[in-house]
Amino acid sequence: MFKYIIDLFFPKVCAGCRTLLTTNEIVFCSHCRHEMPLTQYHLDPENEAVKKFYGKIEIQHASAFLYFNKKGIVQELIHNLKYKGMEEIGTVLGNWYGEDLKLAHAETPFDMIIPVPLHQKKRKERGYNQVTTFGKALSDALKIKYDDSILYRKKYSKTQSKKNLLGRSRT
Ligand SMILES: [Zn+2]
Repeated sequence: MFKYIIDLFFPKVCAGCRTLLTTNEIVFCSHCRHEMPLTQYHLDPENEAVKKFYGKIEIQHASAFLYFNKKGIVQELIHNLKYKGMEEIGTVLGNWYGEDLKLAHAETPFDMIIPVPLHQKKRKERGYNQVTTFGKALSDALKIKYDDSILYRKKYSKTQSKKNLLGRSRT
């Protein structure tokens, strides 16, 4: 009962397109869920994410969950996740991707989830690291450890989002 009263005053809207969510929809509406630009890279060992590493470092596999299209659903999701405190977006996406990865790799070839850290200053400004919920949901789905104490960001940079390697660069 209490939940419905809260929903009445603060109706839940889709994190992708801002339409009202029905009671069965969580975070995204079914239209956005259907339209999500999935890369399916995890099914292709020679995918675009793997190619980014050619000649740079030796890797066994690389993947990215979604294509980033300007003005698209994913841009809206990332914005809400990073700047609007909607951390549950990461949980829903992480659960989704975790299940996909599990299906593609019956015997989990992953050892551990290590999130890319924010600089301490940025972490303080934002209040959270936007990849935490995604990483934790992946770790739950794949039943592997999540460890955020391994990587440490020394340098403070303002425009991190433009430098991310996976799923963003079109070159
Ligand atoms: Zn939507």
